[in-house]
Amino acid sequence: MSGKNSKAEVVWHKGTCSANDRAESKRQNPACIWMTGLSASGKSTLANALEAYLHQAGFHTYLLDGDNVRHGLNRDLGMSDEDRTENIRRVSEVARLMADAGLIVITAFISPFCKDRNDARALFPEGEFYEVFVDTPLSVCESRDPKGMYKKAREGKIAQFTGIDSPYEAPSAAEVRIATENQTVEQCVEELAKVLMPKLKR
Ligand code: ADP
Repeated sequence: MSGKNSKAEVVWHKGTCSANDRAESKRQNPACIWMTGLSASGKSTLANALEAYLHQAGFHTYLLDGDNVRHGLNRDLGMSDEDRTENIRRVSEVARLMADAGLIVITAFISPFCKDRNDARALFPEGEFYEVFVDTPLSVCESRDPKGMYKKAREGKIAQFTGIDSPYEAPSAAEVRIATENQTVEQCVEELAKVLMPKLKR
């Protein structure tokens, strides 16, 4: 990574330890496992369960969850298209730093726009970014409605709700697609782990 900040005279400081050195000491291949899908599709549930599974298997992980990040780092952002893009930009930069530190980062964000997800992917070295499409039909998400958000959106109490009055652009080339409708959480995690574990082992 090099280059200049466009808004200030800041030149990249090259460190002595490389990303590879840090990954070596962790004995794992750093990665960003990027979950995308509608609200209530199962991103947080699967991200949590996958993190527990990987942790149990000895990997050093970190989970970045949409709702939690909006309480801190991104608490100044709303739900306009512009703020959603900025939300994803900041999170992807944080994920990149964590992967650079040698970690396996799992993110759980609706991340509705293809361009924003592709911009996130572009921050990572080839083969470090895994887009996981948590593919659950809107009707199923709406019937789950664990936080009552769809009900509120239908009643007009929440504006710009993804799938209702804000678009969701489904990935066309995700590394993994998980259909949650007819599978248990455990089955989904097994499926994810089967694809991802061999890539994460060093
Ligand atoms: P999101 O993070 O995408 O908004 P959540 O994980 O918060 O979604 O909510 C998903 C809901 O769907 C939870 O109540 C979860 O128990 C339920 N669910 C049912 N089956 C599955 C599955 N196979 N995978 C993930 N979630 C599932």
